[in-house]
Amino acid sequence: MAAYDIEFNEKVKSFRCPHCGEESMTVWGWVSKNNAAHAAYFANLMTGHQEIPARLTISIGGWGEEDNLAKRKWVFIEARPIPGSYEMMVREPEESLYNGKKILGKALTRSEALASPLVQEFFAVADHIALNDPAVKSYLVGEQVSSEGRKATVN
Ligand SMILES: [Zn+2]
Repeated sequence: MAAYDIEFNEKVKSFRCPHCGEESMTVWGWVSKNNAAHAAYFANLMTGHQEIPARLTISIGGWGEEDNLAKRKWVFIEARPIPGSYEMMVREPEESLYNGKKILGKALTRSEALASPLVQEFFAVADHIALNDPAVKSYLVGEQVSSEGRKATVN
């Protein structure tokens, strides 16, 4: 069994939703797998919205000391709360606020991601984030976004 761990960036950053202007929050961090750098992620939490999917931009490969941009691939996954749990869906990279950021590596479209052998890995990392990042976890169960493990900042 792979062991995942997260190093949290200390900030909880507020931003205005580019679609409707409602307040939203971003947290981010780095995921290790079996003690080796593995992935980086941004989670957009749409706090001011009626629908509250967590929008995860996850980049896997070539992180840490290896630092190889050519090995990185990223996907955009939406985690949508359902009673007692959440469900995940890969969406198109154009929907991510981070689309075009070179540091994330190559964007996979929804169909590319679903056909890729990496898809299970993306879902495993997304699950780990949803269950272990206190901000994402609190948000997905409908609670106030927790800054546990981080400091809340005004921008
Ligand atoms: Zn909005």
